[in-house]
Amino acid sequence: MSNASMDFDELSYQILLCANRGHPNIDFLVSVSKLLLSFLNCDALEIWLNEGNKCSRWCGTQNPMRFVRLDDVPVETLLTVLKNGATWTNNPTEAKGSSSKQHQQAMIQGITISKEYLSIGVFPSTIDEDDTSLLIIKRRNPGYFSSKSVALCNNLSRLLAMAATFQRVRLAQKERVKELTCLYEIEKSSSQLEMNLDMIIERIAACLPPAWQYPEITWAKIVLDGKEYATKKVGRERHAMSADIIVEGQTRGYVEVIYGEGKPDIDEGPFLKEERSLIDVVAREVAHVIEQKKTEADRKILLEQLRHADRLATIGQLAAGVAHELNEPLGGILGFAQLAKKHDALPPAVERDLEKIENATLHAREVIRKLMLFARQAPPRKTRVDLNKVVEDGIYFFEARCAKTGIRLKRSFEDKLIDIVADAAQLNQVLINLVVNAIQAMPDGGTLTISTSERNNWATLQIADTGIGMSEDVLNRIFDPFFTTKDVGEGTGLGLPVVHGIVTAHGGKLEYKSKPGHGTQCEVRFPAAGVLEHEQKKKRK
Ligand code: ADP
Ligand code: MG
Repeated sequence: MSNASMDFDELSYQILLCANRGHPNIDFLVSVSKLLLSFLNCDALEIWLNEGNKCSRWCGTQNPMRFVRLDDVPVETLLTVLKNGATWTNNPTEAKGSSSKQHQQAMIQGITISKEYLSIGVFPSTIDEDDTSLLIIKRRNPGYFSSKSVALCNNLSRLLAMAATFQRVRLAQKERVKELTCLYEIEKSSSQLEMNLDMIIERIAACLPPAWQYPEITWAKIVLDGKEYATKKVGRERHAMSADIIVEGQTRGYVEVIYGEGKPDIDEGPFLKEERSLIDVVAREVAHVIEQKKTEADRKILLEQLRHADRLATIGQLAAGVAHELNEPLGGILGFAQLAKKHDALPPAVERDLEKIENATLHAREVIRKLMLFARQAPPRKTRVDLNKVVEDGIYFFEARCAKTGIRLKRSFEDKLIDIVADAAQLNQVLINLVVNAIQAMPDGGTLTISTSERNNWATLQIADTGIGMSEDVLNRIFDPFFTTKDVGEGTGLGLPVVHGIVTAHGGKLEYKSKPGHGTQCEVRFPAAGVLEHEQKKKRK
């Protein structure tokens, strides 16, 4: 019965070789069924494979040489056959093996067989629980099965089961390796700092086709914000699987893998379920890279802002230097102009000219004073001040604004507050910045409480609002120059850094307490005048 050109050993070798390739299941089954058809010299065969809860069925015919996938059946059908064992007949009307009644309807073990086949054999095999298979051999002529050929078919069925298991494991292993290689490549590309987003996404797209089952007919496409990154197109689009790229809850595009040739169905169309999880992971990775690049860009902007601040400071120093240089000669010009003006019997025209010189010089001095203020080089003019008075004077200007925005202004001043040594103008700056922040935090109204108190020789100013409050994150950054959560025009992010600078320069302390939705409390403390003077004396000694 068997084909003389190949013996059993050679056939086993060829079949195992097919399994070892780890090609997609269909390719494996086509090769194996060709080998079996020719070896057994039969007209048709079926291969059934256990696939978890279902059983896939494949049918090959010799003449014409064809191979098709049949409908799946429940795995129980396969398991029943397995329980009953091998069955064969050389003529359905006089069956051997199990009950002969079944065969009259051209059924064997509940499996319908086309009436054109007279010799039919059903040979199940099992490797373990998950790996069971069935080989059905069909021939048009009667009398195909002898005890020798039945033994051979049983052996072949077992060999097939073994090879199918091997194939399954090999395929899974190959898929896993491809998947890991792909992920590794993606990880490698995305961590390359010097590459821009375009380059990284192009690279990721290039990693995809080799990770799919049929690399030679596969191409990949990543679409991000309408821009397309694709690998070389192969054939016409026949099957596609895709996953959305979601960045911060927003769909920004998708990753797509396309087959340029028709392929039989497996899990999701012709795609494996592993390929579905891989493409999902890739889409997430792309989103991650986008986020990373954005953070990087944000950091660059921040750095640029800091450099800008640094430049400002340098310009400030320069301005202060120039101002200082100009102050001297200006003083001279002013002094001499004023002196000259005192001269008797000056012609009126000269007197007018001298007046012009004096006014121009005074104007120039004012400009220089402002320049020094900008550079914050103007030394604080510290005097003994009453914090209560500074605060009272300062908030006077906010009363109207508070009333307009529905903010209740509550004052609570300590009766006899100790004096502090401070620059009143700078204290005013502190107050303005803190009050403006509080007002801005209460766009829908609320209560602004301003109080002063004294504890352990420290004068304390407290400003509390019932506004939006701050998260831990924001709270950690409020003193960073240029940190703002406000719109352009509303905030510069310079208020609190300046406040911090002034308070520190006065030997004071600044403390914030805040929770989102629960308002903010700010406390500024200054040492009492006596204490400071006492310490300064100690230092001098
Ligand atoms: P700006 O007011 O220009 O944004 P600031 O340095 O004054 O800059 O404040 C920095 C940030 O601190 C603000 O953008 C805001 O997020 C937060 N902040 C300051 N004060 C308050 C407050 N009273 N309530 C809520 N958030 C505040
Ligand atoms: Mg502010």
